[in-house]
Amino acid sequence: MLHHVEINVTDLKRTIKFWNWFLKELGYEVHQKWDMGISWKYQSTYLVFVQTDKKYIEAGYHRSRVGLNHLAFHAMSREQVDRFTEKLKEKNIPILYQDRHPFAGGNGHYAVFFEDPDRIKVELVAP
Ligand SMILES: [Zn+2]
Repeated sequence: MLHHVEINVTDLKRTIKFWNWFLKELGYEVHQKWDMGISWKYQSTYLVFVQTDKKYIEAGYHRSRVGLNHLAFHAMSREQVDRFTEKLKEKNIPILYQDRHPFAGGNGHYAVFFEDPDRIKVELVAP
């Protein structure tokens, strides 16, 4: 099991707004919070988001470059994936690969894909 993942972000406030509902719905709780960062924890794994220093922001993030491509989370069921998909739509968060949803990850792989404010791809996948 992962201990933690730490991600630098462009705009911490925007990141908190986006990730808070998603992670809380999955059972994560805020673990640490300070001026320049926040973490949410579930069981023994936590995710940390840290405000990127100004001098590094311009380079930006792109999931096709070297580095993180996406984060994938376990859903409890296909119904939960569907509920999240509806909520994402309500929040005007674009669903990726809509033409192949919910099997964009392959046959039998029931998932929803979307992007965080830095365009980090997020996947929620049913068992
Ligand atoms: Zn994946």
